[in-house]
Amino acid sequence: MNILVMGAGQLARMMALAGAPLNLKVTAYDVNSDKIVDPVSNQVFALDLANAVAQADVVTSEFEHIPYPVQEVCQQSGKFFPNSTAIKAGGDRRQEKQLLDAAGVANAGYRIITNESEFYAAISALGLPLVLKSALAGYDGKGQWRLKTAEDAAATWTDIAAFMAGAEHTLPQAIVAEQFIRFDREVSLVGARNAKGETVVYPLTENHHVNGVLSVSMALPAPEDLQQQAKQMFDAVAAKLDYVGVLALEFFQVGDQLLVNEIAPRVHNSGHWTQQGADTCQFENHLRAVAGLPLGSTALVRPTVMVNILGEDHVDAAVLNIPSCHLHWYGKSKRPGRKMGHINVCGQDNAQLADRFLALAALLPTDKFLEVADVAKVFAARHQQS
Ligand code: AMP
Repeated sequence: MNILVMGAGQLARMMALAGAPLNLKVTAYDVNSDKIVDPVSNQVFALDLANAVAQADVVTSEFEHIPYPVQEVCQQSGKFFPNSTAIKAGGDRRQEKQLLDAAGVANAGYRIITNESEFYAAISALGLPLVLKSALAGYDGKGQWRLKTAEDAAATWTDIAAFMAGAEHTLPQAIVAEQFIRFDREVSLVGARNAKGETVVYPLTENHHVNGVLSVSMALPAPEDLQQQAKQMFDAVAAKLDYVGVLALEFFQVGDQLLVNEIAPRVHNSGHWTQQGADTCQFENHLRAVAGLPLGSTALVRPTVMVNILGEDHVDAAVLNIPSCHLHWYGKSKRPGRKMGHINVCGQDNAQLADRFLALAALLPTDKFLEVADVAKVFAARHQQS
């Protein structure tokens, strides 16, 4: 079966690697170069988008910022999973918020603003502090402002107005003003839904971000009630979208209550641990869902920590001396902050994982892997046997 992925980054690459044993052949459309490529070798095929879509059995996506005309071509084919409505909801925070409200899932209070008077009305309605996020093209903390005090409001609006004036979008830009949530931690739920409406979800993953970018994900057995709460929200959102494929929900946890921060209509960075820690990895389950194959078990096989490699093309090979530690490079050229690869480390139990996570952190330079050593120490304090 031929599967064409919109986007040719590391997620398409890992789909291709996971698809090979199932005889699922994955090619990718590079939105920037307008070329059809092999996402593992980067070989370019002499094929345009229309022909590639026509030849594919299934069309899917690895990211939510696909130009609307390209989405149109995919949607028209009748074999685009997840559908264009789902992709658009992931790529536009206005649609995302409307979707969360329509699905009845808790999320941070918000207002959509397009001008100065709406900006001040949002401050009055929601109070301070606020997080302001561009509706379009916002990800990994980009296009975001924090407004803490009323004195900073005028300067923040000047910044936002300049951003909106300079934004190059074919669609009208807007800002989602959101209440600042004093969360206890950030967690995410990755799961898959098939065309019959069946769903499977992985255990909740605890995520640590640095400057708005995911740095570490930790997958441990989650408390049953929290897992249930997350699963209900997942099912509500996925059903609303008639979703097919892997979907990720990112949450703020406040006490024992979850609020959805955002959705990702695709395989997700916080699900990379599933390659070593789960029975079926998220990439295989995404392909199974879109290809109409039975969904695989999402059981946690062993507790796992994932560490992102950002802006570096080298790590000490000694990390591979750590038992159950696995390196995944994306084959990309080095750029500051760029997601270049990740490391999964597993243990038979939390205590063993804590030892290995500490050993891993000790091999990663603290000026390049910001806060990873601190996260490892906190993890060890919680889980290491005394
Ligand atoms: P996002 O791009 O929406 O995932 O935001 C990036 C990061 O900013 C999140 O992972 C949070 O750490 C933080 N953040 C976003 N929205 C809020 C909010 N409403 N309240 C508190 N922190 C937030």
